[in-house]
Formats: sequence, C-alpha cells, structure tokens
Amino acid sequence: MGAVRGASEAGAIAQAAGILRSGGLVAFPTETVYGLGADATDDRAVARVFEAKNRPEFNPLIVHVPGADEARLLVEWTGEAQSLAERFWPGPLSLVLPRLPDCPVSRLAGAGLPTLAVRAPRGGTATRLLEETGRPVAAPSANPAGAVSPTRAEHVLDALGEAVDLVLDDGPCAVGIESTVVDLCGERPALLRPGGVPTEEIEALVGPLAIPGDTDAPRSPGRLASHYAPALPLRIDAGGPGPGEALLSFGPVAPPGAAVERNLSPSGDPVEAAAHLFAALHELDRSGCSGIVAMPVPEAGLGRAIMDRLRRAAAPRPLVDPPGRN
Ligand code: AMP
Ligand code: MG
Repeated sequence: MGAVRGASEAGAIAQAAGILRSGGLVAFPTETVYGLGADATDDRAVARVFEAKNRPEFNPLIVHVPGADEARLLVEWTGEAQSLAERFWPGPLSLVLPRLPDCPVSRLAGAGLPTLAVRAPRGGTATRLLEETGRPVAAPSANPAGAVSPTRAEHVLDALGEAVDLVLDDGPCAVGIESTVVDLCGERPALLRPGGVPTEEIEALVGPLAIPGDTDAPRSPGRLASHYAPALPLRIDAGGPGPGEALLSFGPVAPPGAAVERNLSPSGDPVEAAAHLFAALHELDRSGCSGIVAMPVPEAGLGRAIMDRLRRAAAPRPLVDPPGRN
C-alpha cells in the first residue's frame, strides 16, 4: 500500500487503473469524499471493499462511471435520468435505477437488489481514473464503517492503512459531503439521502421529490427485517437439508443429502464467501428445490455481514410486499 502524490500525473492514474483492473483497492479523490474503489464487475474485489470497511451489513455501493454514456450500459436509463445527468453530472448526485438484464456489475455491489445507484463524480482525477480503468467502479467512502468520511488522503491512510493497495492523493475534496441519492424507480422521484446537490435544485427540474417513509414503506435497503430475500423459503440450520431442499454451504465439511448445493467458500474464507453470496442465492432460488438451508458462517469479519443478510433472508415475509421492495 502506498500513497501517490500529484495524482494528476498520467503515471499515477495508469498505476491506479492497473490495480483496479487486477482486483485491487484504490482510494481516490472525488468532489464529495475520498472513495474506496474496486472494479464493480469483480465480486471478489467488491467483497474486499466490505471487508476493508468492516461494514456490519452489505449496504449497496454506488457505482461510479465517467458519464451518462457508460451509465446507460448498466441501468434502464429514463428521460428523468437524462435531464438530471445533463444538469448535475459530473457532480454529487447518485441516481437509483433498475439494473439492465445484462448488467455486468457484481450482485454483491448492489447488495442483491434489482436496482443500482450510479454516479459520475466531478474532479479531474476521478474522471481520468474511471476512463482509464474502463470499468464501472464501486466506491463507498474510504473509511471504516461508522467513522467520519475522509476528505484528505491522510484520513484514508490513517484509518484504512494496509487494507488499501493505493491512495491517490489529490488534496482536500471540494464538496466534502456525500452525494444526494435520488431513486428514479418509483412513480415519482424519491429522495433517499440528502447530499451535495441541494434538493431544491433537483425539484426545479423533476418536480417535488417523494420522501420514502412519509407516505409508504421505506424504500431504502436495510430498513426492513425481511429484505434481500430469495423467493424460496430460507432457514439457517447447521444440521443440514431435509428432502428436496437446496444447501448453501460454507467450509470444507458440509452436511450430506442436499438436492442441490452451492458452497460459498470450500476453504472457509469469509471474503470469498461474501463475494459468492448473492450469486449463489440467485442460483439456488432457480434450482427447483422446495427451500434453501443455509449453514451458519462464523460471525467474524465479513461473516457478520453474511449472517446479517442470511437472517434477513430467513425472516418472516410481509404478507404483501411494500412498494419499492421488488
Ligand atoms: P455510501 O456508499 O456510504 O455513500 O452509501 C451509499 C448510499 O446509497 C446508501 O445510503 C445506500 O442505501 C444508497 N444506495 C446505493 N444503492 C442503492 C440502491 N440500489 N437502492 C437504494 N439506495 C441505494
Ligand atoms: Mg459512507
């Protein structure tokens, strides 16, 4: 791990892009805060982001692109998205839109949701890094979960240290507060998080923003006990599968008798397991089995986040899906 100063130099950007393309983590400056970037199409690199931040659960990550042309390859782009992007991109506005069926972004980056938050950050370094990398980059703030967001390279070095392969240092961030998050998946645009673009400026363009929780069920992930749930019933049980059940296993020794089995990590590595979790749940959901039995994962490191998601998947389901949960 090292810091590269003078991040505007072409050599530094090329080095950082190379690290991202080979699955490494690069902290880089944007106008909001320093982001902890990983190749968004690489499950394992994305899992390393959750591990480095020690996030207790898999909140979805914002996926960074150079501009609207690249965003269109990932999500169902709408007229509203186009006008907001024309007015505020590059800038501190993240747009939540449905994933395209062939969206290459890791399911883990989107926390298993059918939607994705995309943003084109402002600032020469971020844009050049994204262009040079040539892939969408998932990047939450480069700080341990629950700690203050970093607005200088030193903050990242102090807090994340060895967990990052490279820190691009381009001085203090211009905005210093996270992006505004607007959800464009519902009947009208909804404000999921206030941030760097004032709400009034957005409303001037697309009309009044709904505030989830005011009138309907919360739309932001992680607020519902039952969420990220597969269609099949799921239970957590070290004892193993009953007849016709699929097994989501972990580690070298799995109970026998599963109709179908997916092992999250035969070697018992929680980082590998996190990288495979959402993709494995999707596969087992389509296996034709009657239900899914998940082996518990030790609650250390990313194991806590994995168990958080498995418990939500196993929680009693609401009788009627609240709006926005799809
Ligand atoms: P952070 O990475 O810490 O900047 O947080 C990202 C924010 O964007 C969180 O508040 C997430 O809940 C929100 N977010 C990211 N992706 C989505 C999504 N697909 N749907 C709703 N909110 C999202
Ligand atoms: Mg954050």
